[in-house]
Amino acid sequence: MKAIAVIPGKRNSAQVVEAPRPSVADVPGGRGVLVKVLRVGVDGTDREINDAQYGKAPDGEPYLILGHENFGQVEAVGPGVAELAPGDYVVSTVRRPGSSLYDAIGTQDMTTDDVYYERGINLLHGFLSDHYVDSSDQMVRIPRGVREVGVLLEPLTVVEKGIVQAFEVQRRLRVWRPRRAAVLGAGTIGLLATLVLRLRGFEVTTFGKTPRPNRIAALLEALGARYVITSDTSVPQAARRDGAYDLVFEASGFSPLVFDGMGALAKNGVLVLSSVTGGERKVEVDADRLNLGFVLGNKVMVGTVNANREYFELGVRDMTHAESTYPGWLTSLLTHPVKGLDGVGELFDKLNGGAKDAIKVFCEVAAP
Ligand code: BGC
Ligand code: ZN
Repeated sequence: MKAIAVIPGKRNSAQVVEAPRPSVADVPGGRGVLVKVLRVGVDGTDREINDAQYGKAPDGEPYLILGHENFGQVEAVGPGVAELAPGDYVVSTVRRPGSSLYDAIGTQDMTTDDVYYERGINLLHGFLSDHYVDSSDQMVRIPRGVREVGVLLEPLTVVEKGIVQAFEVQRRLRVWRPRRAAVLGAGTIGLLATLVLRLRGFEVTTFGKTPRPNRIAALLEALGARYVITSDTSVPQAARRDGAYDLVFEASGFSPLVFDGMGALAKNGVLVLSSVTGGERKVEVDADRLNLGFVLGNKVMVGTVNANREYFELGVRDMTHAESTYPGWLTSLLTHPVKGLDGVGELFDKLNGGAKDAIKVFCEVAAP
């Protein structure tokens, strides 16, 4: 079968390869599911992998099949699968269990292992291929009513996990009644975080760098959120002007903004960090003042990566909720489809900035 793969360590090596077609029997216990891939989204992680900054091939293999933001349709199931049937739409999780205690209870997103296994990212092949096989344990079914936006589930789970973490941490307060949230970054994750925080009843300000008029501003306004351009008003300035935030979700990919987020937190507030920053950037910070604010204000900062099955299920519920509250909004994030695996060149051109105003670039691997 055809697949899009990179040679890890070699820059710009994304190419179409001929890979062996998997079979349901590859998964033990009859739990295998063969999926026809329909759509796969690409993001900054894929860009970094193709840039040779990140990513490893499975042991002993010459290439890594890319793609972790997946969506497909079941073609066949093993004898031990009763919960899925051919024709069902599905999304697979990304990370697979390693050996820590967290992995053993199905929370591999919380692993303490140094080596982690992520499909399409690290040590496991991804989903940018005609077909893939996985265990039914790793898949969630997508209702027909939201199949159009199913490819957004994986990025949505990153947001779901971060927000659940914030609320879990805040149980320490017994009576936390958050009202105001800030989202730092207006890429796909920032937009999805704004959506979920609006669904939870927050008043949301989202910070980005693209000047108006632009697609992002219009999308945020459709959610009833406020869009602030950081070159006009910085995060600390906005917090001084409008009031501090009970919850800040950092998703800008630009680590210096973390400190702005710390400074913009209200008393008892929570800052969620979700940007994967591979570089070595250094900044000078207002250490005394930030520390004092955290100590005297009982504030907390929490990092979050990946997502387990629980967040995929929550994501499906929120997608359904979003489709009834803001109909068509999720679909409008799907701005840049690229037809077929042979479109690999176009896919990466668009991902690397060749498409102006792109939100989600994705490969239309096959029609449903
Ligand atoms: C993926 C996550 C993954 C993270 C780190 C992100 O792009 O969406 O699933 O855990 O990269 O590799
Ligand atoms: Zn991703």
